[in-house]
Amino acid sequence: MRSGTEVTRKLFWQDPYRARLETRVASVAGDQVTLQETILYALSGGQESDHGSIGGHPVLEARKDGREIRYRLDPGHGLEPGDAVAIEIDWPRRYRLMRLHFAAEIVLELVYRSLGPIRKIGAHIAADKARIDFEWSENIAAHLPALAQAAQAIVEADRPITSAYSDEAAERRYWQIADFDPVPCGGTHLKRTGEIGRIELKRRNIGKGKERIEITVDERAAPAASA
Ligand SMILES: [Zn+2]
Repeated sequence: MRSGTEVTRKLFWQDPYRARLETRVASVAGDQVTLQETILYALSGGQESDHGSIGGHPVLEARKDGREIRYRLDPGHGLEPGDAVAIEIDWPRRYRLMRLHFAAEIVLELVYRSLGPIRKIGAHIAADKARIDFEWSENIAAHLPALAQAAQAIVEADRPITSAYSDEAAERRYWQIADFDPVPCGGTHLKRTGEIGRIELKRRNIGKGKERIEITVDERAAPAASA
């Protein structure tokens, strides 16, 4: 049995291609539950929460609370600590989030490399598009064709992506590809850059001294999730 001080084991890092998991309820507080292990990612680092269900109950909210993840279900869920449950996530949505997330990671690194020093002031990864906001006094549009071309070259090279802990106890993670320094990130990452597909960049005007790059990727089917 797990003790009261242990937090949910986050299997979405170990295997981000997993869409179903059998585990047990760890704690229940009204409509909120925690699990012994999870694959259902909660909003952080700008990557949106997964959609999915726990024991057949739709997850209404997935929320990080320190290192714990709390899932809000319908108030009549009836689950008790120790109950066996299956977690299922909306895998096509998660896969799109991973593709857009990694497209955004690469664009950000390329922006730092070609336009630095430049400050990122926000980022958000949704299932239809990603965006990164910068403090920048010029129109960034002129740089987008070169950035898109450089990003696409990394996709075409189909580089393996390393994702690992820099500090396992503190749950600090990083990713790395060839020719880039390690980048700290607690999101879920693809195995190879080729999975991103065709990237498109657009500039949005979001006010004086700020520039937004909007990132989209082409439509393609998700591969089979791992069992
Ligand atoms: Zn990341």
